[in-house]
Amino acid sequence: MWVGIVTIFPDLVRAALQEGVVGRAVKRGDIALELFNPRDYTEDKFRNVDDRPYGGGPGMVMLAQPLADCVAAARKASGDSSMPCILMSPQGSTFDHKKALSLSNLDSLLLIAGRYEGIDERFIDRYVDEELSIGDYVLSGGELPALVVLDAIGRLVSGTLSNPESATSESYSNGLLDFPQYTRPRCFEGSEVPEVLIGGDHAAVDRWRRRESIRRTWERRPDLLLNHQWSKEDRELASSMHADSEQSDNKSD
Ligand code: SAM
Repeated sequence: MWVGIVTIFPDLVRAALQEGVVGRAVKRGDIALELFNPRDYTEDKFRNVDDRPYGGGPGMVMLAQPLADCVAAARKASGDSSMPCILMSPQGSTFDHKKALSLSNLDSLLLIAGRYEGIDERFIDRYVDEELSIGDYVLSGGELPALVVLDAIGRLVSGTLSNPESATSESYSNGLLDFPQYTRPRCFEGSEVPEVLIGGDHAAVDRWRRRESIRRTWERRPDLLLNHQWSKEDRELASSMHADSEQSDNKSD
């Protein structure tokens, strides 16, 4: 997959990719990443990428022309003239797993990291296909949001994870939150690893994990269960969970 990021702080993006699985995928070339700095596309000798807002008010506004030239350069570099151009923006729709999955299936993608008070609206109208937000808060720039998107989709791109099963068993991938994980030692500060995980019965481990996933989702994110595709086995696990909790309620009465 080819990913371009438009940013006036390319070193910030590079620094974040020095470590971790997605950084390694970029180094290996599983994800072809190119950075485009609007400052390299300015038309004045001071290399300005921003100016005061028409109508007054605080802050500066990013100029449309250097950003438009970055998009043109990125389209040329990717060889994809219809590549989607996504602006990171607190005003966009909220980025989630479903979106990450659909973006990870693209051949190429361009992410624009904004800065300052805003971006000339004419650039957005003419060049941006979609605006994506990483949450209802305002950051000082779009580099971290672009890295969040790159990391989430990078994990889903084939070759990134040493065990691809990780990406399909994690929270949200199957509509549920992940089950609890344990590692050595078997006893930590008096707390034991659940017996079922050390018995060697793989079917029992799978059943326990699925049950814990459903339990966690029910306790922490019941909204996710509204769209869950309930299999017969899931229904049985949920009703055994319900029966267990009624039993423990009765005991404590
Ligand atoms: N004045 C803008 C507003 O109120 O909508 C906020 C501008 S913000 C200081 C500068 C840049 O940071 C934005 O152009 C965007 O690229 C990025 N940004 C800030 N918060 C973000 C968020 N929650 N999600 C995605 N991008 C964000």
